[in-house]
Amino acid sequence: MGGAGPPTAGRRDDGTCKGIGARHPAQAAMTKQPTLTLNDGNVIPQFGLGVWQVPNSRAAQVVSHAISTGYRLIDTAAIYENESGTGSGIAQKSVPREELFITTKLWNSEHRDAPRAFLDSLNRLKLDYLDLYLIHWPKPRQNAYAEAWKALVKLKAEGLVKSVGVSNFTVPHLKRIIDETGVVPSVNQIELHPRFQQNELVAFHAEHGIVTESWSPLGQGTLFDDTYLKQLASKYGKTVAQVVIRWHLDRGFVVIPKSVRPARIDENFGVFDFELDKEDIAEISSLDSSDGRIGPNPDTADF
Ligand code: NAD
Repeated sequence: MGGAGPPTAGRRDDGTCKGIGARHPAQAAMTKQPTLTLNDGNVIPQFGLGVWQVPNSRAAQVVSHAISTGYRLIDTAAIYENESGTGSGIAQKSVPREELFITTKLWNSEHRDAPRAFLDSLNRLKLDYLDLYLIHWPKPRQNAYAEAWKALVKLKAEGLVKSVGVSNFTVPHLKRIIDETGVVPSVNQIELHPRFQQNELVAFHAEHGIVTESWSPLGQGTLFDDTYLKQLASKYGKTVAQVVIRWHLDRGFVVIPKSVRPARIDENFGVFDFELDKEDIAEISSLDSSDGRIGPNPDTADF
């Protein structure tokens, strides 16, 4: 995975996630769940479940429900303190391990201790390998993210993690780790929703074969009252959440909406039987705003 990613990186595939026995109507569309090819040749589902703020005591139930619905990518992090519940939810299901795509993240205080932190996460998840390990935040004032990146590259070479990437990295952070190692991250997971689209960063990703993964893809619930999005939802016979998730998919992003409610988990999965018209994708893209950020700024975040 050295150097710039091959031209296939981020390529949309034909929907290769294999389904499981039908349990929910949404699963009828399972065969069309899209995937992307990462710059190291591995394949990532374009849709999954985020579990930030899911209490560990509820994580098993939430994750196992999502897997039953058809979700194949689960996004957690050491700092969410729900890796063990997430792992229990995965273990409750008989879906073959290779059909699942499990992501967790290295916390900021562990940048200089990544191999141990990684093994702790793997143990809590009760897995023998991880699909994607991310550096959660660059925390530039600590100046240890390049060292952490070198450790992640080594973990990948050792085979315990299939792909490695980063989260909340800006262009200068990305340039630095690429310059220091020659290794391009497979993914950058960033805050991205219709009101905050980070177009310059996304363009840098495209240029370098880095897949963009959208966090807080629904703007943490702040988009549901938008009049225009409500109109679009009725045009397509979908909900605002489904239209926004579909926009992420149609833009070529990996999208990981979070909910603990079974009905919403199922609703969010109902996005594989329609596509947005080009004009509507462009119109949603025009909702971008320079002050639309909801989460912390990676340059100044101090935690
Ligand atoms: P989100 O945009 O997914 O919104 C979640 C909120 O929307 C919740 O309150 C949920 O109840 C509500 N919701 C979800 N589906 C709904 C529906 N169909 N109808 C009505 N309401 C609905 O926000 P998020 O949780 O911040 O982001 C998603 C995931 O992204 C997280 O769980 C986590 O995995 C990841 N994330 C990563 C970082 C990072 O620093 N890397 C930061 C934040 C989040």
